[in-house]
Amino acid sequence: MSSSEERERSAAERRDALKEVFVQARSCTRCTELAATRKTVVFGAGNADAELMFIGEAPGASEDEQGVPFVGRAGKLLETLLVEIGLSRSEVFIANTLKCRPPGNRDPLPVEISNCQDYLLRQVELIQPTVICTLGNFSTKLLRGDPTGITRLHGQPEVLVLGRRAVRLYPIFHPAAALYTPRMLATLREDFMRIPALLAQGAPEQPTLEDVPELAEVPTAEASREAGGTPSDAEGDGRSAADQLGLF
Ligand code: URA
Repeated sequence: MSSSEERERSAAERRDALKEVFVQARSCTRCTELAATRKTVVFGAGNADAELMFIGEAPGASEDEQGVPFVGRAGKLLETLLVEIGLSRSEVFIANTLKCRPPGNRDPLPVEISNCQDYLLRQVELIQPTVICTLGNFSTKLLRGDPTGITRLHGQPEVLVLGRRAVRLYPIFHPAAALYTPRMLATLREDFMRIPALLAQGAPEQPTLEDVPELAEVPTAEASREAGGTPSDAEGDGRSAADQLGLF
């Protein structure tokens, strides 16, 4: 499919394609250690056609158990902050830089971030958010391709081209960090309050398609089954990919 066709794809088609990417991610073994120690692949959850997307760091123990991102204390804070700006979890899409829990909640390794980034870029390309809030250092550094940290960047929106999409990137503190530092929580809340105005600006101008390279394709479920047997949508724990994704 050409880039322009992809841009024109309906929300339903993009949602189906997102489920395909999930089916692929669910059996991913690119990171040997994470594949061996995870309980679930935490792909992301929410509205597959969301205007607003959040990208955290990596699943923790609760997320690994439940297969849903941000279900622990940091997730509760994220939900509270969303409600304060008039939004609910089901209206946004929440994902992480890594889809698998690092053992003992250690930091993601550079090789793991690199292994996992195709999934994230496909998510962005298919969901087509207007605003991406990166939560903390890992997702901010990855998407900006630059080591500048969150303390310097938080609260400053910028237009960024990711794959073939231009988005409004808005780095903010990670809610887990704000849980223990009241000053950081106040700053996170202030930054959050600017999200509605950013959304109101709408999507930034999109790049001309000739200027941007094709993304490396995450293979389709069918291609991968042909190549040696990835679980189909109906396999795994018996629930459909959409159910497990918590897609709205
Ligand atoms: N922290 C994250 O970055 N992601 C989660 O899913 C939970 C906590």
